[in-house]
Amino acid sequence: ASFGYRDVDAAEKAGMVRAVFSNVAAKYDLMNDAMSGGAHRLWKDQFVKRVKPQPGEQILDMAGGTGDIAFRMHKLGAQITVSDINPEMLAVGVERAQKKGYEGLIWSEQNAETLTFGDREFDAYTIAFGIRNVTHIDKALREAHRVLKFGGRFFCLEFSTTTWPGFSDVYDSYSHKLVPQLGKLFANDADSYRYLIESIRRFPPMPKFEGMIRDAGFVNTKVEPILGGLVAIHSGWKI
Ligand code: SAM
Repeated sequence: ASFGYRDVDAAEKAGMVRAVFSNVAAKYDLMNDAMSGGAHRLWKDQFVKRVKPQPGEQILDMAGGTGDIAFRMHKLGAQITVSDINPEMLAVGVERAQKKGYEGLIWSEQNAETLTFGDREFDAYTIAFGIRNVTHIDKALREAHRVLKFGGRFFCLEFSTTTWPGFSDVYDSYSHKLVPQLGKLFANDADSYRYLIESIRRFPPMPKFEGMIRDAGFVNTKVEPILGGLVAIHSGWKI
């Protein structure tokens, strides 16, 4: 399959995203380390520090993939539901949890746009490097708001656009040239990684995305840029 990112319609985008993550599932964790030089671990640590999971809290880790965020929060005693649209990513996560001896996580195949959970079930909702893959981001944000309790908090970790000029040039050439090559080398799949980079470039800049979170009903929204916004933590509250 080719994921050369033209202008695609909604159904096409959803199909493409499914194929990309089915292709990369087995190598996903290795690739994250290879492509970020291990930095994704630090970003995820920082993210979970902001979420401050409390023992016994119900937390939904949406687009949770192979469990990186979920495991960090589980270790702090929260009750985690890991949801993802892609069963292959979840299967890798289940296997990793078994290897690590983590018990009690709930794994649930879900589309972020149309959750099957009831209203006000969760104390917090997290989504890390997932929302840019969702076809209708506004729908996913409204669903996040719906399933949160009053006083519940929303946290999103995502690539964004760095405002450090020199850095952005270096990053652009790294991502457009080197990332697909690494994808080819490690996973024999340059196209999937081309898609992933293109989806970063197309993602709305920080102020716009923060506005979308407010439009979904969240208040006290905040953005915390990392590396000038190369990565950003967006958050908001449901009251
Ligand atoms: N959160 C994990 C992490 O940080 O390592 C996984 C991130 S991975 C880059 C993105 C995940 O989003 C994939 O597992 C993909 O299947 C999932 N995803 C894409 N579209 C989705 C949707 N509409 N609903 C739920 N998950 C989705």
